[in-house]
Amino acid sequence: MVEVGPRDGLQNEPVTVPTSAKVAFVEALAASGLQVVETTSFVHPAAVPQLADGAEVLTAITRRPGVRYPVLVPNTRGLDRAMDAGADAIALFAAATDAFSQANVRASIGETFARFAPIALRAQSADLWLRGYVSVAFACPFAGPVAPAAAVAVARRLFDLGCAEVAIADTVGSAAPDDVARFLDALPPDVPLDRLAMHFHDTGGAALANVAVALDGGVRTFDAAAGGLGGCPFAPGAPGNLATESLLAFLDARGLETGVERAAVTAAVDALQPWVGRTRGRAA
Ligand code: MG
Repeated sequence: MVEVGPRDGLQNEPVTVPTSAKVAFVEALAASGLQVVETTSFVHPAAVPQLADGAEVLTAITRRPGVRYPVLVPNTRGLDRAMDAGADAIALFAAATDAFSQANVRASIGETFARFAPIALRAQSADLWLRGYVSVAFACPFAGPVAPAAAVAVARRLFDLGCAEVAIADTVGSAAPDDVARFLDALPPDVPLDRLAMHFHDTGGAALANVAVALDGGVRTFDAAAGGLGGCPFAPGAPGNLATESLLAFLDARGLETGVERAAVTAAVDALQPWVGRTRGRAA
């Protein structure tokens, strides 16, 4: 399980959580048994003011042995800031469509990879763990349905860049189990399934059904955000990130070992309530 609440969740919340509460949140999630906790972002503070304190958060956390704390890095300036703050892992974001890429980072897919090349080189020489994301892998708010081959091609480029893991993201939250099955069917044998993660949103209510299809197809890594933090940027008020608690309950019910203590995740979310002020995605 890859916890994305402190980054993907909090960057989409309308409020800014104090630095000390973010630090406590990251530490509590890592203490729950989660082995990857995406901690913050080093995009320009003007673009994501909620995470403007990324360097402070990353510097302040007490790290647990065996836990990775990836941070989102959009360019070499972000990499400089992340490395100065002691980053041990970085996440790179690409999109499956040029339309989304242009809207998100004002660059085509090709231009995005040109930006990534020097980042990946430096990250590798500094021995940082690299994680890639393929946004809008199933559907794009601008270009509509996305062919599996388009998402696969971007995933392959991220692996070629040196990513240890690539997350296939249903950014819009509209993927259905059939779409996930189609994507997995389209995977060429040279794309390593054991290094693929799925990042589902529950906007259309199918996140867990999609997890089930991906599990059956051999995927073993899933992203989720504690408390279902983040919402959906394309449908105000609708759920976005699959909640970590929901994913845990689902995996527990299937008898799958995660090593994560659900009560500890719930406690981490509860401690954040004074700022985010609601509880979403809580498993029954
Ligand atoms: Mg997300």
